[in-house]
Amino acid sequence: MTLTVLEPATGRPLAEIPETTPEDVDRAVARARAAFPAWRAVAPADRARLLLRLADAVEAHLEELAELEARDAGHPIASARGEIGMVAATFRYYAGGVERHLGDTIPVDGGVAMTFREPLGVVGLITPWNFPLPIASWKLAPALAAGNCAVLKPAELTPLTALRLEAIALEAGLPEGVFQVVVGPGRTVGQRLVEHPDVAKIGFTGSTAVGAGIQRAAADTIKRVTLELGGKSANVVFADADLEAAAAAAPGAVFDNAGQDCCARSRLLVQRSALDAFLGLLEPHVKALTVGDPLADGTAMGPLISAQHREKVASFVTEESVAFRGSAPDGDGFWFAPTVLAPVDPDDRAAREEIFGPVVAVLPFDDEADAIRMANDSIYGLSGSIWTRDGGRALRVARGIDSGVLSINSNSSVRVSTPFGGFKRSGVGRELGPHAMEAYSELKTVYYATGA
Ligand code: NAP
Ligand code: MG
Repeated sequence: MTLTVLEPATGRPLAEIPETTPEDVDRAVARARAAFPAWRAVAPADRARLLLRLADAVEAHLEELAELEARDAGHPIASARGEIGMVAATFRYYAGGVERHLGDTIPVDGGVAMTFREPLGVVGLITPWNFPLPIASWKLAPALAAGNCAVLKPAELTPLTALRLEAIALEAGLPEGVFQVVVGPGRTVGQRLVEHPDVAKIGFTGSTAVGAGIQRAAADTIKRVTLELGGKSANVVFADADLEAAAAAAPGAVFDNAGQDCCARSRLLVQRSALDAFLGLLEPHVKALTVGDPLADGTAMGPLISAQHREKVASFVTEESVAFRGSAPDGDGFWFAPTVLAPVDPDDRAAREEIFGPVVAVLPFDDEADAIRMANDSIYGLSGSIWTRDGGRALRVARGIDSGVLSINSNSSVRVSTPFGGFKRSGVGRELGPHAMEAYSELKTVYYATGA
């Protein structure tokens, strides 16, 4: 069977690739299992060196991978270059972690106990289409650094960079079987990984609905799971903020990657006393966004991933709710103009559900307590921003919002060296930062009797 991969900017086929079956998953897991004893025995310094070689190889192929991602996922080429740069940085960061993956020594009665961090074995990685290669690397790098073998199932909509990475990793010297890619539908090929008795853990990024099913299906074999799921993050703008800076940054907070970002601040909470002034400052920034050909320099926003997804995004927009919108090209791609809905009732679908497109719901609030209450009025808790010149308020609100990552006077969400993940239904566990290797290892305690 073959899979036709589309280019979202044109709606036309980009590649035709073989599709794997659940039996192929069984074979990949068996190969990974066979490769595991030798891989876990590789000396830490040598494993670190291999991951550094992989980082260098990704960088050497940066332009090629960025163009492939730009075409396959519709990302502006400048963003795609940044994403591939982050992939290399992630492998480099966890190469540095290999030799710092330490245990403790604990003196106890009659001897000493020591702890070791042992790899889990074969891990299954399942990733979404919105940031295909970075999200794969956030799982793959700590998993390999901790001594595991990995089988990655990328989203069928965007499998091309993962397949290239598999080949690049082999060229860089990663042993056969240590990292494999299987491309196939989630409900068959992905499901087989989740149910496979020889897979010790699933690292998953995707929707909350699919994540819930994965957690259920993983229970039978007591699999470890890390789940990075949906979001409905708030961008909170107080009247005492630098309103011009907040308005200049707000489009990037939600329209980057055409809003197909789990961290998208798709709720814009603005203090009522500054609402009109803020919207007045925001409008020109939204209208100035360059939406178009991902491969053209200067493009700020590309198309949505698919026609079907565009229909879903459109279902959140009614003409009477639109305050203003930017532009989008005509043509065959899956285009959608950046759209600002204001004011939106907190009970409206657009204020409650993850839209995953370039649509932001503006909600007014009255005071600090109101801002925290509204920001927390969501089943999700992934990201968010707070704009104010009052430092005490910034920290009070950051501590008050139930969310895995928050930025003050900035859109920052994801950095290689800092933990990332969700509260509430945005997920379980953390990726990136120094702790991620722990999520790909078991803690073992060994007691050594020294005699009385
Ligand atoms: P999705 O529909 O949940 O799919 C994610 C992955 O799971 C895909 O590879 C999919 O395969 C696979 N899958 C689907 N059903 C499965 C099953 N029953 N068993 C095993 N695997 C299965 O999510 P998406 O639409 O690709 O991505 C968008 C979602 O991801 C949004 O909700 C977004 O917030 C979330 N996300 C979260 C983060 C985070 O870090 N928290 C980051 C990025 C995205 P196929 O699609 O190939 O069938
Ligand atoms: Mg594609």
